[in-house]
Amino acid sequence: MTHSSIWHPFTQHGLGEPIPKVTHAEGAVLHTEDGARVIDAISSWWVTTHGHAHPKIAAAIARQAARLDQIIFAGWTHEPAEELAAGLRAMMPSSLTRVFFSDSGSTSVEVALKMALGHWLHRGEERHRIVVLDNGYHGDTIGTMSVGARGAFNRAYEPLLFDVTSIPFPYAGVGQAAIDALEAACRDGAAAFIVEPLVLGAGGMLMYAAETLAEMRRICAVHGTLFIADEVMTGWGRTGTLLACEQAGIEPDILCLSKGLTGGALPLAVTMASEPLYAAHYGTDRGQMFFHSSSYTANPVACAAANANLTIWREEPVEQRIANLAQWQAKRLGKLASHHSVRDPRQLGTIAAFDVGAAEGYLSDLAPRMLAMFRERGVLLRPLGNTVYVMPPYCIGEEELDMIYDAVSEVMDLVGS
Ligand SMILES: *Cc1c(COP(=O)(O)O)cnc(C)c1O
Repeated sequence: MTHSSIWHPFTQHGLGEPIPKVTHAEGAVLHTEDGARVIDAISSWWVTTHGHAHPKIAAAIARQAARLDQIIFAGWTHEPAEELAAGLRAMMPSSLTRVFFSDSGSTSVEVALKMALGHWLHRGEERHRIVVLDNGYHGDTIGTMSVGARGAFNRAYEPLLFDVTSIPFPYAGVGQAAIDALEAACRDGAAAFIVEPLVLGAGGMLMYAAETLAEMRRICAVHGTLFIADEVMTGWGRTGTLLACEQAGIEPDILCLSKGLTGGALPLAVTMASEPLYAAHYGTDRGQMFFHSSSYTANPVACAAANANLTIWREEPVEQRIANLAQWQAKRLGKLASHHSVRDPRQLGTIAAFDVGAAEGYLSDLAPRMLAMFRERGVLLRPLGNTVYVMPPYCIGEEELDMIYDAVSEVMDLVGS
């Protein structure tokens, strides 16, 4: 382990924290080289929806890998991508008629921003400004950092980030300030508004009302500002419905999906767009086409995994599993709520979160201390600063969830004072 040459993401190697080696996984359980059994309480960073090594997804990957592994996607197509596009059309909001493939949440957002700006250029309208929500997170590339919260994560890159208009987060009771700020920005001719619907993930599992989201969508529509829903984290049932947007009864102009798209098995993303976005790039002028591609766009093996995910949604009781998980989360979070170290317990669907003690920044040592304590108890939990959240795969059983919360309670006793 100490002789590895790997440079890990979001890891300060100088602290010498242990980096366990995972050998295999099934369902909600990971197995490490030293024989430990660890419950994956964060779905391997929010991607694993149905559980690890789901047999239908694993089989689909094996079948497709032996048949067609990769093919250029500019000017070529293949059955797994066609099947997936048709499946997404049937499942996702009906106004999202076009499916553009890429390979991560960040690229799906980059694509969304480029589509929005291309749309205004080709329509001959001067609209460049992007509006964002405070505390948002949309990825770690330069473009997605530009539309996300600024802080310790991106201080070094600040000179490269483009300017955006930021509106305040709609905390309960003060949602009107966000609405007013959005209205002002849209009236000034903003090109697009990008938002994580109902739950801001990396921003600290911050939750806001569906009515506010609906109002934001309405304002954008009135002023022609394109509404981009980044459902990279919230999509695929996380918030209790397939999309968080459903709970506000809205359809975005552009939708970003990734994490759970393949059930969490392989990297893949889509940016779904409504017809006007496509129409603005459509014509006989090559200069008007959408200039974006990556080498692995719509990789057939990843598409096959995504098709298996869609099959699971159609054939297995996924909604029931989500409802059960949401109910068990509510029960255990409710018990924990009276603990003196627990502040602002909150839940939406399968996501439960709370803050620990006094507010501390992401870089405080509380998070790594808690992470180590959870790991000693056989639970993979990775607090965001002083925010602890539980977001397991939907296949988890009530006993396993109880083990997670038993560990959380013990750790709260230890850190609380
Ligand atoms: C994780 C995440 C992204 C970035 O996805 P990657 O696959 O890590 O690039 C974008 N938006 C949201 C809301 C996310 O949670």
